[in-house]
Amino acid sequence: MKRWKLLCCAGLVWMAMCACDAAQAAESSVKETDSFLSYVRPDPSPPFRIVRDTGEKKGEYPIFEHTDDANTEHLFRDSFMAESVRLFFLAQNLVNRPKETQAQTKLRQASHPAYLLLSEREGGFPGTGFYLKQNGELLDHTGTPYVDLMKSTAASDYLGSMSQVYPHELGHVMYHLLSPDWDRTESRSVDMHYVSLTTDRRVAFDEGFAEHFENVSLDHEPDESRKAGLESSVRQARLTTATMVAGYEKDYVWPMRLQLYRAAVPFWYQRFEMLKRHDWVKEGTIRFTTTQPSAGSAEQSIKYRNTGVRYVESKPRNVSQALATEGVVSAFFYEAAFQRLEAPL
Ligand SMILES: [Zn+2]
Repeated sequence: MKRWKLLCCAGLVWMAMCACDAAQAAESSVKETDSFLSYVRPDPSPPFRIVRDTGEKKGEYPIFEHTDDANTEHLFRDSFMAESVRLFFLAQNLVNRPKETQAQTKLRQASHPAYLLLSEREGGFPGTGFYLKQNGELLDHTGTPYVDLMKSTAASDYLGSMSQVYPHELGHVMYHLLSPDWDRTESRSVDMHYVSLTTDRRVAFDEGFAEHFENVSLDHEPDESRKAGLESSVRQARLTTATMVAGYEKDYVWPMRLQLYRAAVPFWYQRFEMLKRHDWVKEGTIRFTTTQPSAGSAEQSIKYRNTGVRYVESKPRNVSQALATEGVVSAFFYEAAFQRLEAPL
């Protein structure tokens, strides 16, 4: 089992490194005929399919059908999404190739197209298993992975929009594919997870590996105007969340405050979380522990710590904490993608 884990880990590091090389190639070739894709995916069927949920079910599985969405199709062709789908096929090739001990005549298992379910659900989710309604038939895809994303995230470009979240969710799919026993151990942490929060190693590895694709996709966005828009969104997020963070800290420390910033956390925190996944991971400051308030109740202290609004440069996380922090894992793979692991994080 340990050997298998080592192989998976090596495979993931290799994929992260491939992401950089492939992304550099993508800058000039994403609109060209896909010779690379035809190499990794000889099957001529479309590599990327958009589906919608019909609302029907067969057994425990939902029934999807093909649909069109101009915004998503445009994004797939012109953004890092195309590159992440190539990595998905590379991962499938790695898993589906005949084992060395098997006869060379044994055919490689067919790869799945990358299915994207456009939904109205907020957030993004990797999923497995559905039936596909096509020409009056129900095709069995109960073993096929897919990504579920909110349809509106394709309509405009901003920090955390589809061009970055799709590669993140497909990162989960790839990790689960390469490490089939990824969920063998039950997670011991609560459902909540954030980039700077220490949870457990399983959650941290799964999320951290997926999150590093957000930064890689932004850095290697092939469309120059989209890239400029995303970078502007990052700068805007720094400005707006700085005010919120300062107000939030004062709410904890100063007496007689109206606690407006604390009450408004649901409205600004997600943007701040996306900014931390970008800034703290790229800077490497994610390796530091986050601040604790010097006053307040135990409940307030826990909430404040989990919100992680600021880090303490004099207090690096210890190894156990680092391995159980998704942002540290994300920073590892981000640095691996750029082959900078010789420098300290
Ligand atoms: Zn995730």
